[in-house]
Amino acid sequence: MATMRDTNIPSTQHDTSQGQDYSSENSQGYIMALDAGTTSVRAIIFDEYGCKVSQSTRELGISYPRPGWVQQDPVEILSAQIACMVEVQFVTGIHSERIRAVGISNQRETVVVWDRKTGQPIYDAIVWQCRRTTPIMDALVADGYTELIRNKTGLVPDAYFSGSKIKWILENVNGAREMADDGRLMCGTVDSWLIYNLTHGEVHATDYTNASRTMLFDIHKLRWDEELCEMLGIPMSMLPEARPSISDYGLVSNDIMTNRVPIAGVAGDQQAALFGHCCFEPGSVKNTYGTGCFLLMNTGDKPVQSEHGLVTTIGIAESDSVDYALEGSIFQAGSVIQWLRDEMRLINSAEETCEIAQSVPSTDGCYIVPAFTGLGAPWWKPRVRASITGITRATNRATVVRAGCESMAYQTYDILKAMEVDSGHDVSSLEVDGGASKNEFIMQFQADLLNCEVIRPEVDETTALGAAYLAGLSVGYWQDREELQANREVAASYQPQMDAATREELLAGWREALRQIMSSSPSAQQ
Ligand code: ADP
Repeated sequence: MATMRDTNIPSTQHDTSQGQDYSSENSQGYIMALDAGTTSVRAIIFDEYGCKVSQSTRELGISYPRPGWVQQDPVEILSAQIACMVEVQFVTGIHSERIRAVGISNQRETVVVWDRKTGQPIYDAIVWQCRRTTPIMDALVADGYTELIRNKTGLVPDAYFSGSKIKWILENVNGAREMADDGRLMCGTVDSWLIYNLTHGEVHATDYTNASRTMLFDIHKLRWDEELCEMLGIPMSMLPEARPSISDYGLVSNDIMTNRVPIAGVAGDQQAALFGHCCFEPGSVKNTYGTGCFLLMNTGDKPVQSEHGLVTTIGIAESDSVDYALEGSIFQAGSVIQWLRDEMRLINSAEETCEIAQSVPSTDGCYIVPAFTGLGAPWWKPRVRASITGITRATNRATVVRAGCESMAYQTYDILKAMEVDSGHDVSSLEVDGGASKNEFIMQFQADLLNCEVIRPEVDETTALGAAYLAGLSVGYWQDREELQANREVAASYQPQMDAATREELLAGWREALRQIMSSSPSAQQ
C-alpha cells in the first residue's frame, strides 16, 4: 500500500495531500485523530503504519477579557473541530466507511459548563492558562486542604486545574448555582464537550487522564471524589462518566460521518504524546518543547509522590491497566526564543537560532534564567524574575541567543533529575517533540547536558498519533503495543559528546545563576 510520509505540512486550512489518490482499496482502513489544542484544532488521518496521510486545521480565537483571564468560545471549538473532520474526509476522499475509529487528544484542564436541556454552554470555556481562580485556591490552601488534594489527586493546589474554574462559573454566572443544584447543568473538559456533541448528546464521558487534571478525581480509586466535589461545591450530577482512555465513547453522529464511526480512544494532550512516543516502560520520558515544556515520565502501575514539586498524574489508561506518570512543566521555553525575536529583536526567526548558537563555541559564562513569570518545577518560586547573568565585554548577540537556547536544556535537566530522584529510575534516553525539538543545537546540547540519548521520531504529530493509537488499539486496528513500537521511525538521534568536566562546569554556572535570582531581593525568595 502506498503511504505518504509525514512531510512538515504547514498549518494551513488543509495540507498538500490534496490531489493524492487514496481511492485504491486499503483493506485496513484508517484512523482519524482529533487534536483539539489551545491555538488550533486539527483532524488528522493516519494509516496502519502510523504515518500521517492528511490533516485539516482551524485556528481558534482566544480572549483575555481582564488581566490573567483567558477564555474561548466552546461553540467555536466544536464547529472548528467538525469543519476539520468533514474537510479532511473530502480532501482525501477517505470517507467514514474507510475510517475505523476516531481518537481524541485535547488541551487539558480547560472546562465547559452547559445546559443539559438545550446543550448550550452557559459561559465561555475557561482555559487552562486562566488565573482568575487564584483567590479560590488561596482560600483552600489557607483552610488546610493542600494535603487532601495532594493525597487524592496527586496535584498541587493551583488555579491551573479545572475544579476551581467550575466553581467560579457556578458562583459568577447568573442562575448557574440554582441550575446546578436542580441537576440541569453538565460540565467537562474539552474532550467531554466534543464527545457530547459529536454523539448528539448520547454520551457524556471523559477519560481518566483528563479526569486526573480536574482536582476532583481520586487517581488511586479511579473515580470522582465526593469530598473534593464538596470542597469546591460542585454537584456530582454535573460530571461526565470517567472511563479508561481505550474505551467506547459512542458513535459520531451521521451528519458528520455518514457511517457512524466509533470514538474509541481519548487522552489529554500530554498523555497522548507520551503514548504516541511509545513510552510504555517505567522510567521512559518524553519532553515536548513548545511555548513551554512538558515532561512526563511513565512510573508504571504505582503512583510516585514527588518530593520535588512534580505532579503525579495518570499517564496511560488502557482498558484494563493504568500507568501513572510524574509531570513537570516549564513555563518559559520556546517563548524565550519568541522574546529574543519580538522584544529584544536579536533574531528574525526561531529557525535561525540554531546557526547563530553554533557560531560561538560557548556562552562564555553567560546564562539566561527565563523566570518571566517566576520559576515552576522543581523550584516553585512564583515571585522571582528573569535575569541574564555573567555578561562581559565580549558578550554579543550570538552568546545571548545561545544562552536563550541553552536555557531550555538547563530547565529540562533540573526537572529530569528531580524525576530520577523521585522515581528511582535512571533515564537513558529522552523522547522529544514540539517546535523547538527541530533545533539541532538545542537537542545536541540537551543530550550533552543530560549525558543521555535524545530521540526525535519521524512523525512530528506525536500527540495526535497517541490519540490514533489509543483508538486503533480499542477497535483492533492495531493488536498490541509491540505493533505500535514497530511503526516507530527515528528522524534524528543525538548522542552525548561532552566530557564530564565541561558538563559539571556548565551546570555549576547554571546553579549559580539560579542562586543569584533566588537571593536577589528579600521579596523574591518566595
Ligand atoms: P505550541 O504548541 O506551544 O504552540 P510549538 O510546538 O508549535 O508550540 O512550538 C512553538 C515554539 O517553539 C515557539 O515558542 C517557538 O519560539 C519555538 N520554536 C519553533 N521552532 C524553533 C527552532 N527551530 N528553534 C528554537 N525554538 C523554536
